[in-house]
Amino acid sequence: MKDDSRPLVEVRGLRKAFASRGAFWGSAGPPVHAVAGVDLDIRPGETLGLVGESGSGKSTLGRMIIRLIEPDAGTIRFDGHDLLQQSSSELRRLRREFQIIFQDPYGSLNPRMRVGTTIGEPLTVHRLVSSRQERGEKVAELLEQVGLDPSVASRFPHEFSGGQRQRIGIARAIACSPRFIVADEPVSALDPPVQAQIINLMMDLQERLGLAYLFIAHDLRLVEHICDRVAVMYLGQIVEEGPAREVYDDPKHPYTRALLASTPTLDPGSEPAPALAGEPPSPTEPPPGCPFHPRCPVAEEECSRDAPRLIPVQGRHKVACRLVEPRHG
Ligand code: SF4
Repeated sequence: MKDDSRPLVEVRGLRKAFASRGAFWGSAGPPVHAVAGVDLDIRPGETLGLVGESGSGKSTLGRMIIRLIEPDAGTIRFDGHDLLQQSSSELRRLRREFQIIFQDPYGSLNPRMRVGTTIGEPLTVHRLVSSRQERGEKVAELLEQVGLDPSVASRFPHEFSGGQRQRIGIARAIACSPRFIVADEPVSALDPPVQAQIINLMMDLQERLGLAYLFIAHDLRLVEHICDRVAVMYLGQIVEEGPAREVYDDPKHPYTRALLASTPTLDPGSEPAPALAGEPPSPTEPPPGCPFHPRCPVAEEECSRDAPRLIPVQGRHKVACRLVEPRHG
């Protein structure tokens, strides 16, 4: 992956608010501002980690990018194509190129479908195979690519462990040779040793197939060694984004600092700091000014009035905090 390559995915001003339920039966409540104006670029073959607490809008953002959720505003370009302006046949053709791996390997597979049918379905939908035999051969190849024996194609999902099911989900995701995959907390439901195996498999596939990932996680440390860049999300907005090493070694935003400080490291002598104080404010009533100000340990009076913009502070490292000054030179 080259830093100066043209982005494969370009997101600008993406917004989404969901209707919430009101206090009375059948009444509408205030809108939930899940994603509140996000810009992102993802380059071919790179991994962008998208991290933040649950409810920060990460999954909604990931699903909007691949058009599983319709945005209210903004633009999404994939390889130069405006995804919100495509005809349905053009969008169907483009859909082959971006896929998703879901968090829950138990719920994301059809329990009544044999594994071979689940993996081969997208090949049929996109007319990439012309016979049952060809489909069977392709499915066998995909199973081998994800470390499963081709003989398991005739089995059902309940016959597999969580890690094996996630391998099946990955085989389905790569069936149509995509270029971009949204991995929505793909290992959060797995035990640590299995997490490592699945992450290794994903990295290996990335190298072999040239995939770009948007890797969504709530645990910053989980994505530390696999991401080229990291974007930190809080209350529907990106508050810090940059090359992974810079963000981990020199986090600038108070929220990123707090998240990192409260996450255990592999160093046996280190004690994690207490978890972040307080709960994130409700996305139905985002606070005025900086969205982090009610929890920020260094907030000043102006923070509750002026919303900071995400601006470059050093090279490609961007931060949305009025106390972080751009460094020149
Ligand atoms: Fe904290 Fe103010 Fe910076 Fe927001 S703008 S992160 S409240 S210091």
